Amino acid sequence: MAVIISGKELSLQIRGEIGKESAEFEKKYGRLPGLAVIIVGENPASKVYVRNKHRACGECGMYSEVIELAEETTEEELLQVIDTLNERGDIDGILVQLPLPRHIKESVVINRISPEKDVDVFHPTNVGKLTTGNYTLAPCTPAGVIEMLVRSGVEIQGKKCVVVGRSNIVGKPLALLLLEKNGTVTICHSRTKNLKEECLEADILVAAIGKAKFITSDMVKPGAVVIDVGINRNEEGKLCGDVDYENVEPLCSYITPVPGGVGPMTITMLMKNTLLAAEERASKG
Ligand code: NDP
Repeated sequence: MAVIISGKELSLQIRGEIGKESAEFEKKYGRLPGLAVIIVGENPASKVYVRNKHRACGECGMYSEVIELAEETTEEELLQVIDTLNERGDIDGILVQLPLPRHIKESVVINRISPEKDVDVFHPTNVGKLTTGNYTLAPCTPAGVIEMLVRSGVEIQGKKCVVVGRSNIVGKPLALLLLEKNGTVTICHSRTKNLKEECLEADILVAAIGKAKFITSDMVKPGAVVIDVGINRNEEGKLCGDVDYENVEPLCSYITPVPGGVGPMTITMLMKNTLLAAEERASKG
């Protein structure tokens, strides 16, 4: 039987810690750390994500502002909103909820956010810092995975880590963070040959694919640590990960569930990044 790493429980603990640090920040600087979230249009899933982020700010004792813009908002108008937030002293983190309507170019928008307020860590300056190991902010989902491993006492150093998925948001930055923790990292993707054999080598196996039950028990080494980043819907419309949980769980030493695993940790790391960005800005005066 595997140890189940509950992102829900860890998040509660970490949000409590962030809450205390936010209160200390307020005592020291006379204001709360502040996050602004911009949402353009009416995407229902995006609205849920934004609501969850707003609620998490409340739980962490932070200031939160949600800016709702109409679907027809032009790229230029959105850039102006970002410029204003870049200038505001009470806002430490700016997040533009993706995806954006088709007429707005995501890269232009991301590049406009001041790197010091880029709490999603998508700006090329911050990606560069991450790559060179000289960073304060780490992208939320990968940082959440590392936090889960570290807080569960899973040693990364010297371990064979296999990350399935190479997106800019999850797979690639997570591979960098595991490498920085001295893991021996392999990144797999849709063109990988012998994927099963690669996965079977893993002491720590991360699935970030976006396909329900993709990682089956014959792909997992007995005793491995399995982290499931995927968020999918099964045939009955229920949330599920990329790992065939029922059959994989009895094999491994640690596993993360879906829901209640990496998902809550992602939002918690957004809170942590907002606090870190606030501290960095405040310390510069
Ligand atoms: P992307 O679609 O951007 O990337 C998926 C990756 O999986 C790609 O690198 C792709 O390879 C690889 N892949 C697809 N099919 C196969 C295959 N048959 N064999 C091997 N590799 C394959 O997704 P994201 O990285 O954005 O997200 C991955 C999952 O994680 C999704 O379910 C998403 O919903 C979830 N997610 C969860 C978060 C959380 O907070 N828990 C946050 C962000 C994402 P290639 O590059 O070759 O196409």
